[in-house]
Amino acid sequence: ENGLGSRAGVAFYDDSSRASLLMEKNIENKMEMALKNRDFFVYLQPKYELANRTIAGAEALVRWRDPEQGMLLPDLFIPVFERNGFIVRLDLYVFEEVCRSIRRWLNEGKKVTPISVNLSRAHLPDPDFLEPYRKICDKYEVSPSLLEFELTESIMFENFKSLAPVIENMHQAGFTCSMDDFGSGYSSLNILKEMPVDAIKLDRDFFLPGSKTDITRGKSVIETVIELAKKLHIKTVAEGIETLEQVDYLKAAGCDMIQGFVFAKPMPIPEFEKLAYPIGGKQKEAAGDGYGAC
Ligand code: C2E
Ligand code: MG
Ligand code: MG
Ligand code: MG
Repeated sequence: ENGLGSRAGVAFYDDSSRASLLMEKNIENKMEMALKNRDFFVYLQPKYELANRTIAGAEALVRWRDPEQGMLLPDLFIPVFERNGFIVRLDLYVFEEVCRSIRRWLNEGKKVTPISVNLSRAHLPDPDFLEPYRKICDKYEVSPSLLEFELTESIMFENFKSLAPVIENMHQAGFTCSMDDFGSGYSSLNILKEMPVDAIKLDRDFFLPGSKTDITRGKSVIETVIELAKKLHIKTVAEGIETLEQVDYLKAAGCDMIQGFVFAKPMPIPEFEKLAYPIGGKQKEAAGDGYGAC
């Protein structure tokens, strides 16, 4: 046992336990080599416009293909990297992989859709954290308007006053910014007024079976959020959508986009290309057959 354990196994470990410390040490021992060996991969999960069920963007989600452990999902290693600061470099690595792909698509004459990347809170203490992102865009000659940062709602809460200027800096540099996981914590609608974000991503929690959506009150909340966002010219993206019923409901409620297994799972970049930029040029309308690898 090398301490990494299986995903199921990890859940049994108490955070303070020796096993969990060993697991964390194991991840830390491997991370530098993994970055050097290019064992981190960018997967893309399409975002679909509800109006026409075609791909209008994608989110970059990192995967770790460990030679011994196989595929590792972010929930296992991102929290460790957030504690030790390595996430700053990994986020930039993901961003560079995305820019490299966009450059290639542009060279091939594709009509490129914007890609979003997750931005860890670990970047924020550095007032110049955007600089390396801008440099990468310059290096690949990719317009920042094709890139979006996703910041989780809880960061916005913790930094209520100091974060608005950060988002304004992103806009100055040409990037867009969305609020991730909206509704997962103790959100307040007030935050929408304070944060100049371009989009909000309604958290998967809203749409879990047997959760708030099933009851009228839950629906009222979703509909109110969508309506308010519309008035503020903020786009809405519903995350974690798994059924066609949810798709129909969200379309009727006026939501702009969905991202979820119902249409497509996160997938390796070549798979995404086949789907978003098919030969012949015309995308098929999503049918609800959940394409992808995860
Ligand atoms: P997130 O940013 O909220 O990403 C959405 C997560 O929901 C992804 O999990 C995605 O696979 C999952 N998802 C999407 N649709 C569905 C669905 O219909 N059903 C279900 N059950 N799940 C769905 P993933 O890829 O495991 O990532 C988990 C979290 O790890 C992300 O949540 C994000 O917070 C973090 N993360 C992933 N990649 C990166 C990265 O490159 N940098 C940083 N800082 N964080 C990352
Ligand atoms: Mg995200
Ligand atoms: Mg999210
Ligand atoms: Mg999430």
